[in-house]
Amino acid sequence: ETADYSQRAYVETQDEIGELGETFNAMMGLIQERDEAMEHLALHDTLTGLHNRHYLRIRARRPVLESSERCALFYIDIDNFKQINDNLDHNVGDRVLMSVASRLSSVAGDGSLLVRFGGDEFVFCAYDLAAGDDPNVIANRLRDAVAEPLFIDGRELTARASVGIAMAPEHGVTIDELLQKADAAMHVAKENGRDQIQLWNSAISQRAN
Ligand code: GH3
Ligand code: MG
Repeated sequence: ETADYSQRAYVETQDEIGELGETFNAMMGLIQERDEAMEHLALHDTLTGLHNRHYLRIRARRPVLESSERCALFYIDIDNFKQINDNLDHNVGDRVLMSVASRLSSVAGDGSLLVRFGGDEFVFCAYDLAAGDDPNVIANRLRDAVAEPLFIDGRELTARASVGIAMAPEHGVTIDELLQKADAAMHVAKENGRDQIQLWNSAISQRAN
């Protein structure tokens, strides 16, 4: 009823009752492992090992809504990624995604909120920014990390990314508002020639409407 599978029977005797207790405990252990594995699968992306979109919704909702701190949400989409799949191979594309994920993780830092949002899209939330912190500086670091040369099967490849930024509380206080605005800004970065950074502004949404 409580879904608390950490509980165990106290086994006092070696008789049939003790054996029943041991069996019960083994069963609880298996259920606990299964639940942990399922939770891990539900919240992670299997290709890159990063957290997934579902995790972002669970994890980001509370801090963005409740925090009075400045936060920045970065929406990162690899440029012309389909060409890598089409001209090389889907496996090469997968390896590019894994390398990009690991490089973005190095910039984001341990315990930060970086997710593979879908396909070739990644979302990073930077919490508790100081008043003087410039989100463009962080975005440049993310973009530079993506653009470092990759060596796959003896071939050198360079990926590029377009980055859209939305800020809390200026541009929104819910994760949905920030995602939508950062996504819209990212599309403007694509239109401006790709490999660009774009901070959301009201003209972007007016045009989209
Ligand atoms: P743009 O510059 O406009 O972003 O163009 P793009 O070619 O990067 O296209 P887009 O971002 O719209 O599409 C991303 C592509 O990523 C679509 C899909 O074929 C591919 N993709 C999605 N998931 C995976 C994956 O897990 N592995 C591989 N190899 N490719 C994927
Ligand atoms: Mg893309």
